[in-house]
Amino acid sequence: MTTVLGTAPIVRRRFVVRGVVQGVGFRPFVHVTAVGLGLAGEAHNDAGGLVIEVEGPAPAVAEFAVRLADGPPLAIVDGVETSELPVRGGREFAIGASDPDGAVRTLAAPDVATCADCLREIGDPADRRYRHPFATCTNCGPRFTITVDLPYDRATTTMARFPMCARCAAEYADPADRRFHAQPIACPDCGPRLEFLGRAGPVTGDEAALAAARTLLRDGGVLAVKGLGGYHLACRAADEDAVATLRRRKRRGAKPFAVMAPDLDAAGALAAIDEVAAGLLTGPARPIVLLPRLGRAGEGRAGEGRAVKGEAPLAADVAPGSPDLGLLLPYTPLHHLLLGDGPDGPGPGSLVMTSGNLGGEPIVADDADALVRLAALADGWLRHDRPVHVPCDDSVVRVVDGEELPIRRSRGYAPLPVALPIDVPPMLGAGAELKNTMCLAAGRRAWLSGHIGDMDDLATLATATAAEEHLEHLTDVRPRVVAADLHPDYRSRAWAVDRAGRGGVDGEGVRSVQHHHAHVASLLAEHRVPARQKIVGIAFDGTGLGTDGAVWGGEVLLADAAGFARLGHLGYVPLPGGDVTVQRPYRMALAHLAAAGLPWDPDLPPVAACPLPERRVLAHQLTTGLGCVPTSSVGRLFDAVAALAGIRQVVDFEAQAAIELEAAARGVDPGERRYPFPVGAGPVHVADPAPLIRAVADDVLAGVPARVVAARFHAALAGLVRELARRAARASGIDVVGLTGGVFQNALLLSAASAALRADGRTVLRHRVVPPNDGGLCLGQVLVAAAVRGDERRNDGEG
Ligand SMILES: [Zn+2]
Ligand SMILES: [Zn+2]
Repeated sequence: MTTVLGTAPIVRRRFVVRGVVQGVGFRPFVHVTAVGLGLAGEAHNDAGGLVIEVEGPAPAVAEFAVRLADGPPLAIVDGVETSELPVRGGREFAIGASDPDGAVRTLAAPDVATCADCLREIGDPADRRYRHPFATCTNCGPRFTITVDLPYDRATTTMARFPMCARCAAEYADPADRRFHAQPIACPDCGPRLEFLGRAGPVTGDEAALAAARTLLRDGGVLAVKGLGGYHLACRAADEDAVATLRRRKRRGAKPFAVMAPDLDAAGALAAIDEVAAGLLTGPARPIVLLPRLGRAGEGRAGEGRAVKGEAPLAADVAPGSPDLGLLLPYTPLHHLLLGDGPDGPGPGSLVMTSGNLGGEPIVADDADALVRLAALADGWLRHDRPVHVPCDDSVVRVVDGEELPIRRSRGYAPLPVALPIDVPPMLGAGAELKNTMCLAAGRRAWLSGHIGDMDDLATLATATAAEEHLEHLTDVRPRVVAADLHPDYRSRAWAVDRAGRGGVDGEGVRSVQHHHAHVASLLAEHRVPARQKIVGIAFDGTGLGTDGAVWGGEVLLADAAGFARLGHLGYVPLPGGDVTVQRPYRMALAHLAAAGLPWDPDLPPVAACPLPERRVLAHQLTTGLGCVPTSSVGRLFDAVAALAGIRQVVDFEAQAAIELEAAARGVDPGERRYPFPVGAGPVHVADPAPLIRAVADDVLAGVPARVVAARFHAALAGLVRELARRAARASGIDVVGLTGGVFQNALLLSAASAALRADGRTVLRHRVVPPNDGGLCLGQVLVAAAVRGDERRNDGEG
């Protein structure tokens, strides 16, 4: 009997696969699939994507097409074009080299955490990569951070300087091997080498360098350790003195440190980890996950020093006063070897892992730079000779209602593109001022850089320029238009103007985008809301320049990408003296009290916290309006309430008061009392904060605990969101509500507001791809600038 395949016609078909197809094990996948189906043919990368030709019985070719559409696990297939070719004969399936020429670039892949197979190998004494700090395969390892150019091949990565040994070369060339065409392939014979630099001079040899670094950690030292995207500063998380030293040297204030636990079990002893969080902690991107910490043991300086037995799991200084802990798991073999048990004894336990930099500066990635810039911060350096081409910080996420909420989108995510709902010309989005990222966009894609940092720093500006140039190189997008924030004093704007003035941006210059419109547009972009479809965008944050010159931050915008109408906002109160008030929430509390017509009762914590001379100046300012700007900022309202509740009068880092107010409210029953938050009649719906401030002050003076005040405030704010959305729906007929802006990093508020909106039958759009904070702003900027430009062109055409 002849088989069905035996009688089927023989066909030859070409597939061009576009998307993230390089550095994700696509060619081995194609090889195994084709050979498994008995197909002949060949595959190679070119600049347009992965080109595959297969030949064989028609049903087998059809099955190949089905499997191809999914691709290997790390691939993102944007599209597959197929065409029929004449049959050529042959029985082999060949993998070709990459073709470096071509007009269109494929996409670079993000860095991927060490896979289970590689981890097993580095733990297996019989394996030739036993304890090799640089083991990788097609399923894991560095990608974006080592990519110098595309197409992604060893020669275009920082691994180019390491010639493969014969055994690695054989694995690299073997289509059946897990390391087939794994560009960063390495082994102890041919790979990068570790080196430890300490007070006593350099220690070479991987095992000796590791042991020296672990000794330094055990002895309470601060170690600069080179990872995928740059240097971290590490110390034992249980060591009170070491953590305090690191905090002091880094000039970190009270800002929490992230902690790398050796494994999921160890992480589970530190924080409450549900299934979603466990998936994020162990997933290929391996971000820092903000989680509720367990048993506040270790708070209050137990003073056990370096004792391993019986000590608190975390030093008090790791995350002082924070109910959350930023946790991450090892994501390179080096991390696994540093934290795990070794020939020199048990591992050092969980480590504080913080970016190697001073607060606000970009992460240090260059080896020579690390020796200089980290000299005052570290006691020793564990480094290697594989250069980091693209600095990239750790990403940060949180879990809200069982969904991932990005807080910082960087390593493991960058430079994956975000699909856009409209076609855009080649553009650059310059982002905002703090926590900046920028993006390039063209066609239906936007590529966001990793986290860059605060743009008020010269080093950050240089990093921004380098990141932008590299992104241009990888994407081949040469921006014609630059989108920037409206604020004339933002460094990001000056940077954008400079960028537009240099060659390359021919002619169209800088387009200004209002801050909160950009926030709402970032939601439109990531949810791919069709052009001209309006949503009700509720944008709550700390600061953004409004079109009326006020500091906005409590906005209800009826918006599509091309424009917005301000349907409502938080009522204006005077913001006296800008930055100084942002740093001292007690000033904002006094401003809110004055605006509500309430006396500055010395029994109220912010009044007591404000020195008398400052109080006099403040009173004068608020009466005369001198040096005051009107603000509708919800971020500042959080500051005022946190100060009134006695939780925080002066902040060390951005949003500290709001974070602590959320922490105080968590799990607390607000009781019967409802704080009033009336909204005025239209056409613009203004929410009056005065009755709320009065109620808060009454509660505080009556001795109601701070946590109850905090819970009542959160309930009131969620209720306000619901009411503002009702008014907006009545005015516009639109039931889709987007929640955006830095305030919506607050899990309690985001969850409560979403539930309230859904109870009214509304559709809620939340961030899943880019952060609600200013780290997502660049995405919205390009969408708005493109939509406005498109409208102008259409209007010009009609006129
Ligand atoms: Zn692997
Ligand atoms: Zn080798």
